[in-house]
Amino acid sequence: MVKLLILGPPGAGKGTQAARLAGFYNVAHVSTGEILRSNVARQTPLGIQAKEYMNRGDLVPDSLIRNMIEDRLAQPDTKIGWILDGFPRNINQASFVDELLSKKMVLKGESDPGDGASRFLAVNLVLSDEVLVKRLLARGRADDNEETIRRRLQVHNQETEPLIEFYRSRDRLVSVEGDRSVDAVTQALKEAIDSSYYVEK
Ligand code: AMP
Repeated sequence: MVKLLILGPPGAGKGTQAARLAGFYNVAHVSTGEILRSNVARQTPLGIQAKEYMNRGDLVPDSLIRNMIEDRLAQPDTKIGWILDGFPRNINQASFVDELLSKKMVLKGESDPGDGASRFLAVNLVLSDEVLVKRLLARGRADDNEETIRRRLQVHNQETEPLIEFYRSRDRLVSVEGDRSVDAVTQALKEAIDSSYYVEK
């Protein structure tokens, strides 16, 4: 069963790769950015609260994200595995991942592989800032203007980048060079996933 966290800066291709891998491994693709954008479009209470943060390029508060991800992972399609795209974004959110997994393990009576958390792998897409800015400007999403892009990269470096060390120190991290063709990145990700102890075969 594949359970993955896709890390990497804005513009790295997380969404594209997560969708491809979810299709290939037949697991749920959970994108917090997509769920938020859908809530903004439908003007739900969550969307109304999240919009101002997203427009500035800031992270939406953890309390909102926590409820949202808990609801999403309670849906039946995630039972067969999942790929989390855009979550966790900071150390506090990474601790929700641990909490949610340990809750689920208790509920399902899953055996513990030995280190207190169920198996999952964090994959990190690596790209230079220069390439990212070019890609984001070409993409043209509502929050892809120059000022917001700069802010999103800054937020990434301050809040999300520490997750790389967090998962590396727990031996859960693989890094993949992201500045190549979509197919080449997908191939490298599959190889990393298929050879990892932290993916149940
Ligand atoms: P993304 O589609 O992952 O690039 O996310 C777009 C925007 O949604 C981000 O710039 C944040 O404002 C917000 N967002 C997405 N995921 C999260 C998250 N896990 N925590 C906080 N904010 C998030």
